[in-house]
Amino acid sequence: MALIIRDDDLSFWSTPEEIEDLYGPLFRRGIKVSFATIPFAVRMHNAGDFERFCQEEDPRPLGENKELVAYLRSGVRKGLIEIMLHGYDHLYRVEASAGSMAATCENLSVLRNRGEHLRFIGEFAGGTVDELTEKIRSGRSYLEGLLDTKITNFVPPSNQISYDGIRALIRNGMNLSGLIGRKYDREWSLRGLMTFTDRILFSLSHSSLTYPKIADYGRHRELAGYALTPTTDRQRYEEQLAFCMKKGYPFQIATHYWELGGELREYFYQLVETALTQGMRSKHLNEVL
Ligand SMILES: [Zn+2]
Repeated sequence: MALIIRDDDLSFWSTPEEIEDLYGPLFRRGIKVSFATIPFAVRMHNAGDFERFCQEEDPRPLGENKELVAYLRSGVRKGLIEIMLHGYDHLYRVEASAGSMAATCENLSVLRNRGEHLRFIGEFAGGTVDELTEKIRSGRSYLEGLLDTKITNFVPPSNQISYDGIRALIRNGMNLSGLIGRKYDREWSLRGLMTFTDRILFSLSHSSLTYPKIADYGRHRELAGYALTPTTDRQRYEEQLAFCMKKGYPFQIATHYWELGGELREYFYQLVETALTQGMRSKHLNEVL
């Protein structure tokens, strides 16, 4: 029984202090964290609030944040930190009546003033298979060299990924953190069809639960991450955790260090404590997939 802690959006714009503040107490007890890391992140404003959210087109390589690099390298060496790939620059596109454009603060301020209905599209929900393959290849090899590690898991920005995004991931031999989409939007394989059938049967008999098993599609694997945010339905969350503990399935908490303040932070620590005292073991996602 594995407990995985996944934290998204680690990038040049993060500081070692904010990571240490939240996870230091866990690291000191040998508890592991898997960080979804953006290699060349643009700056985000008001993350998590799509009414006010916007970005700047100023991608910065993680390597320019020397203190963070030293902190991460040390955590990787001690076996406490797993690095996963989280897109390339994490720049959204926004779809409005005039078509789609980069979700920059400039563009969004015009669109919001016009009262347009906006739809945000994650970095890996658009683009061609060749573009996405190259983004994964170069982003991954940059981070592997910088942090002296191997990266096998991909976390799509905003948990959105197209069919071509999946193909790009397979071409790079990676697995996916997250169980995305309800229809069969994956490579064709007997294994994949069996997994999909199992998913449907599971949802028929457990309507309030998420499919908890490792989903094997033949050429890549996926595991659901359970989002822990200020709007999480805690009763459902605890039911899912209890179910996974009872049946011996892995449980992947998916959160953001910048969102875990105050009471939610205490709740997060409590969840980790409950899972570990009831027999779950702290693992990285690459030990499970
Ligand atoms: Zn993200």
